[in-house]
Amino acid sequence: MNGAHAYDLHTHTYYSDGTLAPAELVARAAANGVQVLALTDHDVTDGLPEARDAAARAGIGFVPGVEISVTWNSQTVHIVGLQIDSADSDLQTGLQRLREFREWRADEIGRRLAKAGIPAATEGARRFAQRGLVSRTHFAQFLVASGEARDLRAVFKRFLVRGKPGHVPGQWASLEEAVAWIRGAGGQAVIAHPARYRLTATRVKKLLGEFREVGGSAIEVVCGSHSRDDAFRFAQLARTFGLLGSAGSDYHGPQNHYLDLGPLPPLPEGCTPVWQTWPPATPA
Ligand code: AMP
Ligand code: MN
Ligand code: MN
Ligand code: MN
Repeated sequence: MNGAHAYDLHTHTYYSDGTLAPAELVARAAANGVQVLALTDHDVTDGLPEARDAAARAGIGFVPGVEISVTWNSQTVHIVGLQIDSADSDLQTGLQRLREFREWRADEIGRRLAKAGIPAATEGARRFAQRGLVSRTHFAQFLVASGEARDLRAVFKRFLVRGKPGHVPGQWASLEEAVAWIRGAGGQAVIAHPARYRLTATRVKKLLGEFREVGGSAIEVVCGSHSRDDAFRFAQLARTFGLLGSAGSDYHGPQNHYLDLGPLPPLPEGCTPVWQTWPPATPA
């Protein structure tokens, strides 16, 4: 087993805001040399059975996961759950509540965009939401398709982030709830892409301290949106806070040509992997 190269513990399918079916995701991961794959769709676990079956056929290890939306100090933070039992009822009740908020928010984003002169955006976004869960990604895809901006990045910046016409503040789970749902379902909680939140050094430490306090296990040290410097910085912070390190691409589909499954750099030296205590990575 070649260290972190073999693990991709953060990916999406069309059950949330990715574009591939679970079987397509697994096939691509296996072809790219991933030996252990986690599926971690936003606030939903519906893709896990298909992904597990496909992983067994492809002969790679499979980790059932989820990426939970959290509101922490008025900011959205994502907590990945790994090795969860998706049949756990508290977890499912919690995720259901978040999906209900998503539904309300989708209508609210549509109302706000309508006021800004863009009608019928909610219906437009829903056409991109292949399995029902509506994400800002689907609004972005609709807005790009209607010519409002050049690409997803530009559309987020102009319409979907704080201070812009289609922004609606999150009312997601608390940090404590998300970690409790994950742990209650037998899983390990991981702070996703910590460098993306652009927190001050003081607030990063506050987040890691509180996360550790409520029972969090790990942080994503190596991930698609981290530079090598980010990885070293968060490896150091993981050690300081007694947290493990995880690695995941945050792959959403082949339209993101700058980010593929598989070729992740190894965890920095001295960073204990979240998978250290897992059983050997034999096929599912
Ligand atoms: P939501 O959970 O519905 O608020 O949508 C968040 C998702 O939007 C993230 O998981 C990313 O996939 C995507 N996203 C956020 N910011 C950007 C960005 N600047 N460019 C492209 N995609 C983004
Ligand atoms: Mn996403
Ligand atoms: Mn995320
Ligand atoms: Mn993600």
